[in-house]
Amino acid sequence: MTKIDSISKYAVDSKGYYGKFGGAYIPEMLHPNVEELQQRYLQIMSEKSFVNDFKKLLKDYVGRPTPLYLAQRLSEKFGANIYLKREDLCHTGAHKINNTIGQILLAKRLGKAKIIAETGAGQHGVATATVCALTGVECIVYMGKVDMERQKPNVERMRILGAEVRPATSGSQTLKDATNEALRHWINNPWDTHYIIGSVVGPHPYPDMVARFQSVISEEMKLQLAESTGEENPDYIIACVGGGSNAIGAFYHYLDEENVQLIAVEAGGEGVSSGRSAATTQLGKEGVLHGSRSLVMQTQDGQVVEPHSISAGLDYPGIGPIHAHLFETGRVKFLSATDEEAMKAGILLSRLEGIIPAIETAHAIAALDQMKFNTNDVIVINLSGRGDKDLETYIKWGGY
Ligand SMILES: *Cc1c(COP(=O)(O)O)cnc(C)c1O
Repeated sequence: MTKIDSISKYAVDSKGYYGKFGGAYIPEMLHPNVEELQQRYLQIMSEKSFVNDFKKLLKDYVGRPTPLYLAQRLSEKFGANIYLKREDLCHTGAHKINNTIGQILLAKRLGKAKIIAETGAGQHGVATATVCALTGVECIVYMGKVDMERQKPNVERMRILGAEVRPATSGSQTLKDATNEALRHWINNPWDTHYIIGSVVGPHPYPDMVARFQSVISEEMKLQLAESTGEENPDYIIACVGGGSNAIGAFYHYLDEENVQLIAVEAGGEGVSSGRSAATTQLGKEGVLHGSRSLVMQTQDGQVVEPHSISAGLDYPGIGPIHAHLFETGRVKFLSATDEEAMKAGILLSRLEGIIPAIETAHAIAALDQMKFNTNDVIVINLSGRGDKDLETYIKWGGY
């Protein structure tokens, strides 16, 4: 295995673990694929030609660097200096494309001709279908049948882009079921196919690989904050967490800066103790889900519990192993926002700043209500995505 030059004491170790979380719990049949990735990802990602191709596409195709915007009216309301890191302005409308660009370049270098992916809100599916069209690669996306219904525009976007969308019809017919189907597909097609996972979940090296691709968010934040405030470090960084990729991207280069308070916001659904939520750190216990050891929402006898969130992208019963570790070590503070709090916060941001956020992202905005700030505090909220895809949910919710 390639030696890991960790930039943080919270980074993955050489065996693929974050403390007791992580690892690669996979069926025998997947060993060749996952081992090939483990052995080659760091070497490929550090090649000069790879770095150049990745940076060039992020700039010219995705539109990076994304702005860091001082939200004046939001700042006035909460009595602090609130900046928004505008991942919603990325091509395809969210941070997910940072990772899919990286993984498609990696897949090409591994000589893989086909791509599979899973998707919840449809954002990762669209981001994957997009980079497959960009590079002329065949693409199959698994999506829960329920999610296909609540995210119809994204299903059609994927089809327009030339991808095949396959419904996952087991269990709750949402993200975790789509992930199961995609893993099954990979087991049956190990040689010519690369599986693009959309968050910091899955067997090692996916969580580390995805975190590195998303770390461009905090890399830019440091430069942009230094320019606008004179200091690289804010007082707080706030991000919503499904699997945790936008959050770790926003936290990555600050993990060892212990004076920066890192806040992750989970989906409280209808209330953390309502039986209908996706607040994994509050309700989860140690377990294995989708190839890694992490915190998982499960029953006494280890059955995975069906999660609930109004946002498809946060509707997941697990959390990336790095976040489980950051939760247990206390480095990151975890809060939660309910469906209702998130919807109100989404409308608040729309009214105060003219930005309609993704409902996932609205959970991070909602956390402002639960915090106390000093007037000099500098806060960065990672605005992970835009709300276009959620229009139907906003309309159904009303209240505006
Ligand atoms: C997918 C998605 C999320 C949740 O995924 P993470 O891996 O936790 O970032 C959050 N926000 C938006 C806009 C998304 O599309």
